[in-house]
Amino acid sequence: MNNPLDLKFTGGCQCGAVRYEVRAPLEMVHYCHCRMCQRAVGNAFALIAGAPRDKLSWVRGMPRLFNSSSLATRGFCNECGTPLTFGYHESMFTYLTIGSLDHPEMVTPERHYGIESAIPWLHIDDDLPRETTPDDPRYLAMVVHQHALPVS
Ligand SMILES: [Zn+2]
Ligand SMILES: [Zn+2]
Repeated sequence: MNNPLDLKFTGGCQCGAVRYEVRAPLEMVHYCHCRMCQRAVGNAFALIAGAPRDKLSWVRGMPRLFNSSSLATRGFCNECGTPLTFGYHESMFTYLTIGSLDHPEMVTPERHYGIESAIPWLHIDDDLPRETTPDDPRYLAMVVHQHALPVS
C-alpha cells in the first residue's frame, strides 16, 4: 500500500450482480444510528464509508436507487437486495456499506452519528465521538420518502 496508485477497495452485493471498485482512501467511516439508516439496512445501525464519487466505479451491474428522502438516495442490488450505498444528491461522496466491502477490516470507524436514535440496549465500547443528526436547515426541509411508521 505504499504506492497510492495501488490503493484499491473492492466490494459488491451478496449475489455478485453488482460489483464496485474505489481507487482512493475511504473517508468519514462511521456508524449511523439514525432511524432512516436503521430502516434502510434493516438493522440496528448502518456502518458506512465515504468514497469520492469520481473514484468509485461500478465494474459489474449498477445498484438500483431508492430516493429515501428529498436529500438522498440509497442504492441496493436489484437481484438480491443487499444495501450498498447512501448518498446526498449534492455530495462529492457516495457512502458504501462496509459489510459490502471485500475486506471491511481495511477501514476503521471514526465516529457515531445519529445517536439520538441509537437503540438503548446497544453498547459499543469505544471512545469515538458521538454526534446527533445535525440541526441543519436542510434536514428541517427534508421530505422523507420511507414508508410512514405506524403511530403508536
Ligand atoms: Zn446482488
Ligand atoms: Zn443515518
